[in-house]
Amino acid sequence: MKPNILILGAGFGGLELSTSLSEALGDGAEITLIDRSDSFVFGYSKLDMLFGRKTEAMIRNPYSAFAKPGVSLLRETITAIDAEAKRVTTDKGVHVADVLIIALGADYDVSGTPGIMLGLNEFYSVAGAAHLSKVIPDFKGGDVVVGVCGAPYKCPPAPAECALMMHDYVKARGLESVTRITLVNPLPTPVPPSPETSKAILGAFEERGITFIGNTRVTAVEGNSVRLDSGESLPCDLFLGVPKNRAADVVVAAGLTENGWVPVDPYTLETRFPGVYAVGDLANTGVPKAGVYAEGAARTVAANIISMIRNEAQTARNPGAGSCYIEFGANRIARVDVDFLSGPKPFGTYHGASEALRVDKERFGSSRRARWFGQL
Ligand SMILES: Cc1cc2nc3c(=O)[nH]c(=O)nc-3n(C[C@H](O)[C@H](O)[C@H](O)COP(=O)(O)OP(=O)(O)OC[C@H]3O[C@@H](n4cnc5c(N)ncnc54)[C@H](O)[C@@H]3O)c2cc1C
Repeated sequence: MKPNILILGAGFGGLELSTSLSEALGDGAEITLIDRSDSFVFGYSKLDMLFGRKTEAMIRNPYSAFAKPGVSLLRETITAIDAEAKRVTTDKGVHVADVLIIALGADYDVSGTPGIMLGLNEFYSVAGAAHLSKVIPDFKGGDVVVGVCGAPYKCPPAPAECALMMHDYVKARGLESVTRITLVNPLPTPVPPSPETSKAILGAFEERGITFIGNTRVTAVEGNSVRLDSGESLPCDLFLGVPKNRAADVVVAAGLTENGWVPVDPYTLETRFPGVYAVGDLANTGVPKAGVYAEGAARTVAANIISMIRNEAQTARNPGAGSCYIEFGANRIARVDVDFLSGPKPFGTYHGASEALRVDKERFGSSRRARWFGQL
C-alpha cells in the first residue's frame, strides 16, 4: 500500500512540500494537494501590482502548470478538518490520510477594525492590492497612512517597503512637497530582530520625510482620519492597510488553534496530533510569517516523512532561517538574513540596499517558478 499524504494549501509551504516529496518518492506515494484557488501569487508581487509595476495576470502563477510525479493537485475548498482522524471534508468530498499537513496560510480578520475593508483599503489581499492600484493614480497629494492593524502579520518589512515605494511614486509625480507619509506599526522598529536593518530603514524614512510610529496599531479608519490604539487620530487621505492576520476559520473550527494560531513543535512542525503537521503562516513557531520560512519548514517536514517511509530516523529540524528582500525605493533592494532557531536569540545580518540585490530578488522568484511550475 502506498502511503497517503494529504497537503492542505498550495502556497509557499504546500508547493515546496509536495515538490520535495515528489522528488524523493515519485509514484511511490499518493500525494494529494488541495487548494481552492486556480493560481499561486508571491506575497511581494502584491506590492508590484499596487504601484503599477505588474498586472494581476502577470503575478498569477496558474496551478495548471504544476505537474509532479505522484502528486494530484485538486481544486477544492476545505470546509472541515478532523485532525484526530486525519479526515478532511471539502466542497467536493472527503479525504482520509496517513499523514496530514495543514498549510492554509494566514487569513485576514477585519471584524475588530471598523473601516478597514477587504479588497478596498488594504494591500495584503490580491483583490485589495488590485483595487488600490486603481485608486493610487488619482491621489493628488495629502496624508498617506500605511497602517498595520495587529501583529503578528505576514512579512514584517512589507509595510515599510510600501511606505518607501509610495514615496517613490509621489516623487515621480511631483507630489512630494504636498504629501506626508506615515507608517503606523505595532512592532517597535521596522525589523526588530535586525537592529541594523531597522536603522537603515528609519534612516531612509528620515531622508524622505516619512514618519514612523512604532508600538502602535490602527484601531479604526473613519472618513479622512485613522484612529490609533494610543487614543490619537491621524489625518488620512489615502489609507494603505494591513488587516489583522489570523488562521483561517476552518482551522479555528477544527480546534487546532490557541490565540489564533496553531501550536506546533517549532523544530518538527508536528501538532499535538501525531502525524498531523502545520507548516507556514498558520503555525506558531516563533519564526516570522514569510514564504521563505514556510519553505524551510516544508522541507523539514518532507525530509522527516521521507525518512519515516524509509524506516529511517527522522532527524530533520526546522532551520528557522531565511533571507528577506526589502524594497528600498529608487530601484534598490536590501536583504536581511535572519536565523531564529539555531541560537539563544534571533540573529540578523543586513546587506545594504543596491541595484545588484534586485537581480538576487528576481532570481529568488524565478527559481521557485522554475522548481514548482517549470517556468522562468
Ligand atoms: C505584501 C506582502 C509581501 C510579502 N513579501 C514577502 C517576501 O518578500 N518574502 C517572503 O518570504 N514572504 C513574503 N510575504 C509573505 C508570504 O507571502 C507568506 O508568508 C507565504 O505565502 C506563506 O506561505 P503559506 O504556505 O503558509 O501560505 P500561503 O502561501 O498563503 O498559501 C495558503 C494557501 O491555502 C489556500 N487556502 C486557504 N484556505 C483554504 C481553504 N479553506 N480551502 C482550500 N484552500 C485554501 C490558499 O488559497 C493558499 O493558496 C509577503 C506577504 C505579503 C502580503
